[in-house]
Amino acid sequence: MCEQCGPAETSQDVRSADPSRRKLVLGLGAGLGVALTGVPALTSSAWAATLKDGRWCNPALGYFPSGGHYGAPRGSSSHAGQDVTNSTGTAVYAAAAGTVIRRGTAVVPGRTGNGLVISHGSGRYTYYGHLSVFRVSLNATVAAGQRIADMGATGNVTGPHLHFETHSGALGTTVNPVSYLAARGVDLGGGWSTIDPGAVGATVKAVQHLITQRGTTLVADGDYGSVSVNAVKKFQAARGLVVDGQVGPKTWASLVYSLKQGSSGAHVRGLQTALNKRSAGIAVDGDFGSVTNSAVRTYQSVNRLVVDGVAGPKTWAAAVG
Ligand SMILES: [Zn+2]
Repeated sequence: MCEQCGPAETSQDVRSADPSRRKLVLGLGAGLGVALTGVPALTSSAWAATLKDGRWCNPALGYFPSGGHYGAPRGSSSHAGQDVTNSTGTAVYAAAAGTVIRRGTAVVPGRTGNGLVISHGSGRYTYYGHLSVFRVSLNATVAAGQRIADMGATGNVTGPHLHFETHSGALGTTVNPVSYLAARGVDLGGGWSTIDPGAVGATVKAVQHLITQRGTTLVADGDYGSVSVNAVKKFQAARGLVVDGQVGPKTWASLVYSLKQGSSGAHVRGLQTALNKRSAGIAVDGDFGSVTNSAVRTYQSVNRLVVDGVAGPKTWAAAVG
């Protein structure tokens, strides 16, 4: 974890991970009835559900170290991000599309080591800290899931990890990354993603390819509209799952196939599409040949998964996470 992951630029109280503390402190000025205004990531589930739109993804695989949570005490301040521990060299991906606006050492006040800031528009930013290697340049435009860096141990740390921050409203106004991503259908802890009707992008294409393999041919256009939603509902009904059209952990687990060299079909296209979201750069041809085998092994290696070339549930969950 971070020994001295620095404070954010705003009132430390707004950053607190302790809801009671946040409510108490904000309540001093705003009144308890509206205490959580401005901290939306933790509140309305209905509001949150509309944001599981496929636009966000998991920036890195690892585990949450003790004391590395958002709001953890750091001297007179509190921890501004969530630490995700893994070994140096583990891949770090852009959590959403955007522009690299800062790249270097101590690029945000109070932060140490090599860091990147990506602007996602509308006052939203993500920060990636303690990196060992940068894989994008300053001012680069990045896609969601694009590999941007390697995990490292630069700055004031006790070991390699990603220090990940989410900022909402302005750079410096941090929110809890775990709940911020959860509201957007992403499990920072590494589990399956969740997408709702209306979602767009590569993860939706992966679903469409998998549904095609399951027997209902869909156009893989990345648009999770009514035709695709109805096909997923039909699949859910056939599997005895909750028929809501939401592709979450249970539906994913039923939908994916374990694939390896020699496999061919729409499900392989789904896998290839998911790997390309993570910078694999392979043809989406439905043929799990040597190129796809190599891409799967590389993906497994840089994410510290078992490197066996078999795309099973863990590899799928990581790739669509
Ligand atoms: Zn940290």
